[in-house]
Amino acid sequence: MIGAGHAGLAISSVLTEKSLEHVVLERGEVANSWRCERWESLRLLTPNWQSRLPGYPYRGNDPDGYMTMPEVVDTVAGFAKAIAAPVRTHTAVTSVSRADGGYHIATSDGELHCRSVVLASGAANVPHVPRVQEAVPPQIECRTAFDYGGPDRLPRGGVLVVGASATGVQLADEIHRSGRPVTISVGEHVRLPRTYRGQDVLWWMEHSGVWNQRYDEIDDIERARGLPSPQLIGTPERTTLDLNVLGAAGVEIVGRLAAIRDGRALFSGGLRNQFALADLKMQRLLETFDAWALNSTLDVEVGPPERFEPTHAPESPRLSLDLRSGEIRSIVWATGFRPDYRWLAVPVLNRKGELRHDGGVVVDAPGMYAIGLPVLRRRKSTFIIGAEDDARDIVGHLAHYLGNP
Ligand SMILES: Cc1cc2nc3c(=O)[nH]c(=O)nc-3n(C[C@H](O)[C@H](O)[C@H](O)COP(=O)(O)OP(=O)(O)OC[C@H]3O[C@@H](n4cnc5c(N)ncnc54)[C@H](O)[C@@H]3O)c2cc1C
Repeated sequence: MIGAGHAGLAISSVLTEKSLEHVVLERGEVANSWRCERWESLRLLTPNWQSRLPGYPYRGNDPDGYMTMPEVVDTVAGFAKAIAAPVRTHTAVTSVSRADGGYHIATSDGELHCRSVVLASGAANVPHVPRVQEAVPPQIECRTAFDYGGPDRLPRGGVLVVGASATGVQLADEIHRSGRPVTISVGEHVRLPRTYRGQDVLWWMEHSGVWNQRYDEIDDIERARGLPSPQLIGTPERTTLDLNVLGAAGVEIVGRLAAIRDGRALFSGGLRNQFALADLKMQRLLETFDAWALNSTLDVEVGPPERFEPTHAPESPRLSLDLRSGEIRSIVWATGFRPDYRWLAVPVLNRKGELRHDGGVVVDAPGMYAIGLPVLRRRKSTFIIGAEDDARDIVGHLAHYLGNP
């Protein structure tokens, strides 16, 4: 197993249940990504009761709250301890190659051979920054979620946040509250209210079955896997954080960053369409929840159906911004994350650098599996709550492969 995040540990617990010998190689500490790669103020956007792992439910006294990073680290580390996971920390995998009917693994601490390998190395190892970054004038400081470090580490003055998914709206909100003028550049996004009919919207995602939809039942799986994260934030007040909230607070909203030419950022004029699409998709999802609630016996009380205001488009959004004028001092790229497979010496990536897999069973590499990637086997796959079902499926396949069903 490569990686001791929650997904790798979920696999480890199911392997142990089946008495399958294994080792978990981790380049840092258990829960390394949550320790080293997130920003300080981040809280999970999934409620605490959804932070459950195989045989390890949420144990605190605030099931409807949202964990801080130290709390996530405690949860994942607590799980590793509870299952006595055989983790070798500070052991970075530097190469995985084919050998003798299995795989040869080179690490920073020696080499090993295994018949089967599970890539649980994460879906968000490196920030993805579009190539347009190359044209940013040198006087502008550029950051990503990895080196953001909080608003006070940014220079005083205006900030352009590029991207309006979970990371973009959360950082735009925090930076705006620090007193800096913020402009947010908005492309395709997924709008969701924090609560719907009195319940967390992710309660609806789970109980209505939307999150359980399997990868082989989804018409356009590539598109589903590439969807941006929803505009959600976890706060003690359970606040909604969408573009209406940001706009009302004074954040300037502009279209998708299309190019930077001669020091000018050029934004697409399609904001209204983006808003209409996101509003329509949200509306359809809420209707799915309503239809499900109508035909189900619910064990909690829910309020009447709600409808939300459409996203307000600015009268005449700016189509360009002079990055040399001094108005903007820094850019925060909230344009997504990618896995890092530079150590993978088996030809299993497509030309976009994505892992070729069928529900976590890596294509053309018998005995190689993956977990933790978006919509790996179900819509919930990349979330903590999605790890158990995927781990059981993957280990089922792996045990069969090893002749040990
Ligand atoms: C900003 C952000 C917010 C998120 N918020 C939520 C949320 O609110 N709720 C939720 O359920 N999910 C959330 N997620 C999604 C999800 O939980 C993460 O993607 C999660 O970290 C995936 O789990 P994982 O175990 O697959 O990967 P990771 O937690 O990234 O674990 C991978 C592990 O592999 C190790 N590793 C990587 N490469 C190597 C190597 N070469 N050798 C050895 N070890 C290696 C890493 O050090 C790391 O410990 C969020 C993700 C991000 C990026």
